Amino acid sequence: MLAQVALPYAYNALEPSIDAQTMEIHYTKHHAGYVKNANAAIAAENIAVANETELVASVGKYSTGLRNNVGGVWNHNFFWQVMGPGGKGRPEGKVLDAINASFGDFEKFQAAFTEAGMKRFGSGWAWLVEHEGKLTIGSTANQDNPLMDVSDFKGKPLLALDVWEHAYYLKYQNKRNEYVANWWNVVNWDEVAKRIG
Ligand code: MN
Repeated sequence: MLAQVALPYAYNALEPSIDAQTMEIHYTKHHAGYVKNANAAIAAENIAVANETELVASVGKYSTGLRNNVGGVWNHNFFWQVMGPGGKGRPEGKVLDAINASFGDFEKFQAAFTEAGMKRFGSGWAWLVEHEGKLTIGSTANQDNPLMDVSDFKGKPLLALDVWEHAYYLKYQNKRNEYVANWWNVVNWDEVAKRIG
């Protein structure tokens, strides 16, 4: 059975960047729906789940429905944890050092990550990953992620941004650019730091 992680903060904790209604619907309807459907697919396909990450890494062996829903479980469990209230806006210490080493400076990194989120056509995710000792930026469609065997873009996720319309449409409507710009205020860089190295 896959589980939905407890939200580490209240629905309104990321206001005004992400409004409480969007957070509540996103967590209790969208994410909970992926959990329910993923577990139904795991049962229907008779899969013995060693752990969530191993299943994600082998989704290519199973149905598209399983791939989409298992990805939806993993991606949101990750996404909630790399956000939080009281964000400092920019990283420091080893995260900043790694970003500077890979992208030049924080502004260049931020521009490239924003572009990955803006250019993802339709629904998907933007990612910062660690791969072969370097940090790289990319995006995935639907609920795919860089741990999946089926993904062209691979690495260990350090930071993720959900650019599905369900993540921002209630507050921002078509203005994905404003959502992305405000989202930087709620990135939890301490959680990113825990995942580096
Ligand atoms: Mn979502």
